[in-house]
Amino acid sequence: MVLMQDYTSYDLYNPTESHKMLRDSVRGFVKSEIEPQALKHDREERFNLSLFKKLGELGLLGITVSEDYGGAGMDALSSVIVHEELSASDPGLCLSYLAHAMLCVNNCAVNASKEQKERFLPKLCSGEWIGAMAMSEAHIGTDVLGMSTTGVEEKDYWVVNGQKMWITNGCVDDDGTPADCVWVYARTGTIKGRAEISTFLIEKGFKGYSVGQKIRDKTGMRASNTAELVFDQVKVPKSNMVGKPGDSSLHMMRNLQLERLTLAAMSLGIARRSLEVMNRYASERHAFGKPLKDFGQIQRYIGDSYAEYMAARAYVYETARKLKLDQYGQRLDSDGVKLVATTMGKNVADRAMQVLGGYGYVGEYVVERLWRDAKLLEIGGGTLEAHQKNITLDLGKNPEVLLR
Ligand SMILES: Cc1cc2nc3c(=O)[nH]c(=O)nc-3n(C[C@H](O)[C@H](O)[C@H](O)COP(=O)(O)OP(=O)(O)OC[C@H]3O[C@@H](n4cnc5c(N)ncnc54)[C@H](O)[C@@H]3O)c2cc1C
Repeated sequence: MVLMQDYTSYDLYNPTESHKMLRDSVRGFVKSEIEPQALKHDREERFNLSLFKKLGELGLLGITVSEDYGGAGMDALSSVIVHEELSASDPGLCLSYLAHAMLCVNNCAVNASKEQKERFLPKLCSGEWIGAMAMSEAHIGTDVLGMSTTGVEEKDYWVVNGQKMWITNGCVDDDGTPADCVWVYARTGTIKGRAEISTFLIEKGFKGYSVGQKIRDKTGMRASNTAELVFDQVKVPKSNMVGKPGDSSLHMMRNLQLERLTLAAMSLGIARRSLEVMNRYASERHAFGKPLKDFGQIQRYIGDSYAEYMAARAYVYETARKLKLDQYGQRLDSDGVKLVATTMGKNVADRAMQVLGGYGYVGEYVVERLWRDAKLLEIGGGTLEAHQKNITLDLGKNPEVLLR
């Protein structure tokens, strides 16, 4: 039985002491180590590999992984806290973190065999290995079953052929060094007229696995590396297939929920920082003899941003609280939070630039970088249109959820 006083004192954003300590420690690390390098790495389009590895020392790289495999054994809400805090300073570095800790490491922790977890997770959790996830290709993104990368079974291995596009952490430097471990989706056959997709763990050093190109000149997220990966007759041991042929849809369904939730959390970080900047500036800057915050139009930017941020934040944390990492069927709200939070984050960053006028347009005041980074979150990990489609489909099947 929950008592009245228990529920009114409940802190949605830091529900336990461990969550609060996690937030404080990430916030401290962001202030001392991440913030000072963020603008420089964005400008130089460079991934800060040595700083990234320090996230392993803090126990963040395997945040959702059991301690048995070197992880922190924490929950979905903890990963939301980390993404929100990192993204308030450096969304580019945070995107690399998401690709590693959510798309590769959590995928492995939830879906791989015990033997695979023992082999891969300790190195991924410590930061000795950098991980990535490769689903998208040059000609397909949303229409994932249309992928053309193939896996063909031969003797005691699989042969993987194809090219993957837009892979975060696909390369770890500017010299063509590929990720140490890539969670790769490939077509291995056809079931009932639909593509059968299977999952392979491909390791650096496998012959035929290489970086095609580092993708340059992105609008934002420039501190994370994005690459094209090439798989040319790569012989993958059978022990590196995750599950059995055709299991990828299960892997995708489980992991996309956490991916979308944490991408939404990144938008919260962007919005919070943008609000901090515009709020301070509107008090300090004067025009026509009074502070900007006394003008009604500026109040509208700040007021709307705060209310929209708080609404999205409550939805994100409420969804995180309930999300079970090893289950699927929770897509309605993981798509819901990403749909609402990403556009909110982009709009709040845009309003912050507007409030700052010319200063908002230069790097020193941070919001121009956040504004550029915010856009990706409406595209990556599922486009707005994909979320609208999924939500409509799910509500059509289960209209009773509206009466919860
Ligand atoms: C910086 C960056 C990092 C990324 N990192 C990764 C990564 O680590 N791993 C990975 O696998 N991928 C990654 N991606 C790829 C990303 O997930 C895809 O870009 C995204 O899924 C959209 O796919 P697409 O670009 O092929 O667009 P498309 O799917 O071709 O979509 C183009 C447009 O058509 C719309 N559209 C498509 N189908 C429909 C439909 N049925 N109804 C209505 N509208 C539709 C879309 O919503 C969109 O507006 C990354 C992309 C970027 C830019």
